[in-house]
Amino acid sequence: MSLDKHIEKVLLSAEVIAERVAQLGSEITSEFSGDSDPPVFVGVATGACLFLADLVRRIDLPISIDFIRADSYGSGTVSNGSPRISFDLKLDITNKHVVLVEDIVDTGNTVSCLIEHMTLKKASSVSVCTFLDKPSRRKVYFKLVGDGKFYSGFECPDEFVVGYGMDFAEQYRNLPYIGVLKPEYYM
Ligand code: 5GP
Ligand code: MG
Ligand code: MG
Repeated sequence: MSLDKHIEKVLLSAEVIAERVAQLGSEITSEFSGDSDPPVFVGVATGACLFLADLVRRIDLPISIDFIRADSYGSGTVSNGSPRISFDLKLDITNKHVVLVEDIVDTGNTVSCLIEHMTLKKASSVSVCTFLDKPSRRKVYFKLVGDGKFYSGFECPDEFVVGYGMDFAEQYRNLPYIGVLKPEYYM
């Protein structure tokens, strides 16, 4: 696509992504297949949109899907550190298993705020499935709820990435791969 001209390097191609998402899908399917109560997949808007759409099509269980929004980022590349829920769930998750679907866990602020929120809503377990993980940048060490597990698609180097749902100033979410922008576009 002609948008490719904005990208300095591709870190994860669409093919590599598809393969890993399929693996995650079967892993999560096996984890919950003995359970009579299938989980609620909660996509964290907007960044998790593409990952959620691909992931749930690889889950072979009668799951439900909902969305939540937690805002902490301005339009730049640095978090302001204190996320708040700006759009809440429609479904009642009391006594439900929740799988929080995230684009990336960076400092951990957002995911820890969301886990706390799901705890207050009395989810019976909270797992986190993040497409990317930047463990080198972690500031907050979150605890999963109940039998909750942490699933991660790929470890991400300490670079600001875009694509596959992830933005810079609300753009580039529609790229089908993960890449780093050319410096002249970070403006
Ligand atoms: P945290 O609260 O863990 O610091 O940040 C989580 C959010 O920051 C992510 O959901 C994502 O929206 C944003 N973020 C963190 N690192 C990156 C990155 O490399 N690229 C983009 N586009 N967003 C990021
Ligand atoms: Mg996010
Ligand atoms: Mg963002």
